[in-house]
Amino acid sequence: MYRTHQCGELRAEHIGQTVTLSGWVQRSRDQGFMMFVDLRDRYGITQLLFSEEKTSAELFSQARTLSREFVIRVSGTVIERVSKNKDLPTGDIEVEVKTLEILSAAELPPFTIEEETDGGDDLRMKYRYLDLRRGPLQRNLIFRSKLALATRSYLDSQSFIEVETPFLIKSTPEGARDFVVPSRMNPGQFYALPQSPQTFKQILMVGGLDRYFQIVKCFRDEDLRADRQPEFTQIDCEMAFVTQEEIIQTFEGLTKHLFKAMLGLELSEFPRMYYDEAMRRFGSDKPDMRFGMEFTELNAVAQGKGFKVFDSAELVVGICVPGQAGYSRKQLDGVTDWVKRPQVGAKGLVYVKCNEDGSFKSSVDKFFGQEDLKAWADAMGAKAGDLLFVLSGETDKTRKQLNELRLEMGRRLGLMKAGDFKPLWVVDFPLLEWDEEAERFHAMHHPFTAPKKEDVERMLTGDHETMKALRADAYDLVINGSEIGGGSIRIFDRALQERNFKLLGFTPEEAEAQFGFLLGAFEFGAPPHGGIAFGFDRLCAVMNGQSSIRDFIAFPKNNQGRDMMIDAPSPIAGEQLGELNLEVTAEEV
Ligand code: ASP
Repeated sequence: MYRTHQCGELRAEHIGQTVTLSGWVQRSRDQGFMMFVDLRDRYGITQLLFSEEKTSAELFSQARTLSREFVIRVSGTVIERVSKNKDLPTGDIEVEVKTLEILSAAELPPFTIEEETDGGDDLRMKYRYLDLRRGPLQRNLIFRSKLALATRSYLDSQSFIEVETPFLIKSTPEGARDFVVPSRMNPGQFYALPQSPQTFKQILMVGGLDRYFQIVKCFRDEDLRADRQPEFTQIDCEMAFVTQEEIIQTFEGLTKHLFKAMLGLELSEFPRMYYDEAMRRFGSDKPDMRFGMEFTELNAVAQGKGFKVFDSAELVVGICVPGQAGYSRKQLDGVTDWVKRPQVGAKGLVYVKCNEDGSFKSSVDKFFGQEDLKAWADAMGAKAGDLLFVLSGETDKTRKQLNELRLEMGRRLGLMKAGDFKPLWVVDFPLLEWDEEAERFHAMHHPFTAPKKEDVERMLTGDHETMKALRADAYDLVINGSEIGGGSIRIFDRALQERNFKLLGFTPEEAEAQFGFLLGAFEFGAPPHGGIAFGFDRLCAVMNGQSSIRDFIAFPKNNQGRDMMIDAPSPIAGEQLGELNLEVTAEEV
């Protein structure tokens, strides 16, 4: 037997028992005539005691050969510790070892395998098996496993059934590039890996399954930003005969259930906000609602006073940073430099200090008198002691920049409190999004999203502004500034779907070639339907107050999309390429 107990299990009540434990050597302390070894497994750490006096010289010298990450089995007696460790659940006892067996020796690990590690990201990914031994990663994966279980049991209780959809499919356009897989049996043809099971789940609704879910891998070949993974997991759902309201209710229910089951937290009813309102008040479709600093538009009070920068701007907009009028010159320059970085891209920053004595000091005193600045402060609801930041320019860009600044100030002032969860539904997203580079419209959510009923007639007017103003029955769930889920009511009528494809620039032939199966299905009695998908990795991270999804994924890829452990992607043999009818390029020969 390898063990009678796990390493996190023994307590004072076990004192006197003979036990066998197996695990990894976390560290050892040699005190000459006594040696202490911390033995670790998934369940905890138990202190082992090797005493020269009480054991054989042979055992003692064997113990001296142990070093970090050796895998051992020991048997011995549970005894009371002289100096107890309150921080350790097993801290009242230790095991006085009688026999020791080294099951597996270990090289010196390339980084520290403890709560905190000194390993860099790539190193930790290369030796993922070592990183996975660390408490934080183990706790994350256990959380993830339990979250999946809680999700399944809740959705099961709501009559959802889990259906697996294929991974080798035809491209589903969700805004990213597909990963493709060559087909050996069909020379020159390719499967695509699903960006989501979107069309399949809709087909399941046409198939009468009524309520579907799947905890499923999705694949998107995007340029990787820090917190994106080329393969990630969604809780993917679809319901038939539903309205947007019922979907929102159902998935608000799921979210509340998960917070209660996993964190013991009762969330109250989630507020809702129109997309347009979110953009106006926060410059973002995923505002962090843990703090205020809402936008105030200042065109009416700030234009026409001779300050060219403002006068020529489409939008003048500011935020009021509470209690920060004491910012030094250096701090203000720092913030100005921060907004001018290419990642934010503002040309400059105007500030106004609302001094305690009721006077104002601004960076534009040349153009604006005390009365003018008071008008801004009033518009923004500012009090003495507050600091105002104002940006101006083209509306969309300026809002984006001020959103960045608002978040940065929230961070600097410690307003994004861990353990504080502020969910929000953002609803009525635009149907279309203008792509500057390609000079055409894309579907903002995806091409199967239904326009709002009242917008159907206006869909094909061809007028740019009308198209931009079309709204969809599409919604996102946002928690603490992270998009947790997104979905929509779908088109279920062939003619309307064709109209939408046309709007998106598909010829009828292209639409038929790519989505003929779905259009065809709509001719055989399709029920009204809609759904949503939650980002499962993101949900794990947000619920744990962490910004990165990487450590909630057992085997993540790095920023270059590489798996550092197995070293993928990698070239394949010429023979394999030949079988796949792929050309062998000169470099590979
Ligand atoms: N397929 C969509 C997505 O992955 C979610 C949905 O519309 O249900 O974003």
